[in-house]
Amino acid sequence: MASVHDQPVDLDTFMEGVEKRNPGQTEFIQAVQEVAQDVFDFTQDKQEYHEAQILRRIAEPDRIVSFRVCWEDDDHNIRVERGWRVQNNNAIGPYKGGIRFHSSVNESVLKFLAFEQTFKNSLTGLPMGGGKGGSNFDPKGKSDSEIMRFCQSFMTELQRHIGPDIDVPAGDIGVGAREIGYLFGQYKRITNRWEGVLTGKGTEYGGSKMRPEATGDGAVYFLRSMLQHAGEDIEGKTAVISGAGNVATHAAEKLVDLGGKVLTMSDSDGFIHDPDGIDRDKIDWIKCLKNERRGRIKEYVEEFSGASYHEGKRPWDVECDLAMPCATQNELNEDNARSLVENGCMALAEGANMPTTLEGGKVFHDAQIMYGPGKAANAGGVAVSGLEMSQNAERISWESDRLGDMLTELMEGIHDKCVEYGEKDGAVDYVRGANIAGFKKVADAMLAFGVM
Ligand code: NDP
Repeated sequence: MASVHDQPVDLDTFMEGVEKRNPGQTEFIQAVQEVAQDVFDFTQDKQEYHEAQILRRIAEPDRIVSFRVCWEDDDHNIRVERGWRVQNNNAIGPYKGGIRFHSSVNESVLKFLAFEQTFKNSLTGLPMGGGKGGSNFDPKGKSDSEIMRFCQSFMTELQRHIGPDIDVPAGDIGVGAREIGYLFGQYKRITNRWEGVLTGKGTEYGGSKMRPEATGDGAVYFLRSMLQHAGEDIEGKTAVISGAGNVATHAAEKLVDLGGKVLTMSDSDGFIHDPDGIDRDKIDWIKCLKNERRGRIKEYVEEFSGASYHEGKRPWDVECDLAMPCATQNELNEDNARSLVENGCMALAEGANMPTTLEGGKVFHDAQIMYGPGKAANAGGVAVSGLEMSQNAERISWESDRLGDMLTELMEGIHDKCVEYGEKDGAVDYVRGANIAGFKKVADAMLAFGVM
């Protein structure tokens, strides 16, 4: 008897189904589309993946938990936000992925991030599945005690759904060392267990050295590997960076250390352009501004003469050799991509998750510039999180040098997997390479489990 999958559905029909089942979830649909086109091409002659409906299953989260987060502000008003945990896929290990606190968070954003995370974690080679969580709570302008009360309330519900062998969250936008401390403290208080249930912890209580630096450093290592593969290097190159948070500042530091010149940084209000270069001292000043004084990037121009501030703008029109979007999703569109290409940008590594729109990505693809997608380029953070889980399980703590070497090796390994699956006619399509390499490991594990 003929099976319904004798004729695998084509990409358009598959995407119509995704759109129908996820109405209005534009970020999620975009993330699936970006992966699906490469996976369809790769699995064309691999009937087993079609029969088992592998991509259809990865694009349907294992579960989504949605909950109310109620907290009291400093004026004794009762505030109500929404919290989520999207557990996308645990075929190759416990769910793993960050928590985001930002007013733009909704189910679509977290589903896209959890979907992407599944492929990214697979690329690291470590045993981690994909998940993501967060809240529409906006930490900006909140006092320290308000942040603490919100984190405690958030964890009071989340703790039912996570565990060191179940789901291990970490930080993301709006969730840094301070928030992880409050979240971990509340988990420990409720469960009476000290266990590696979160990563990105302080080094005093089980955090891994090198975790804060890992995403930014790793993204620069990936950029360096792409350049070296093409006979180039970072030394002497100019770079534009967006964002001024954890990923952006560490990427900037690493670029400077490797001889690059960083020209821009940004926040959600605008960007600063410093033609003299944003050196180590200036980056330290930005870190203090963002992490301690909780200030805005526009204050930079009052401190450093020669720099300009561009309100409401993004840095993609500034002439550069290299670009690193490190702020948020869809911050680089088709016009921005054209502008980068026309201005001579030769390589781009995404520190943020899905910062480039599908149309922007197509411009890079057509122009054949080296384009390292987030799921490969920013995987260093989750990789060191995976190493934090190992250290917690073994009750030991490794030194920075060892972790730095492991991170370098991991990023080079991810680069090589992208080349293996993405090289064609002498050019490397890093998006395709990352999608296929990330998919294959998860897909093969799912095949082993049978239908579930
Ligand atoms: P942070 O909260 O430390 O910093 C985020 C930065 O991006 C801030 O400068 C922020 O500006 C800016 N930003 C946030 N939202 C927007 C927006 N809508 N438009 C413009 N700028 C915005 O976050 P991270 O540095 O940790 O994360 C940045 C990106 O990297 C995210 O995409 C995240 O998912 C990704 N990532 C992070 C990892 C990590 O280890 N932290 C791991 C892998 C990926 P403002 O202060 O104005 O909000």
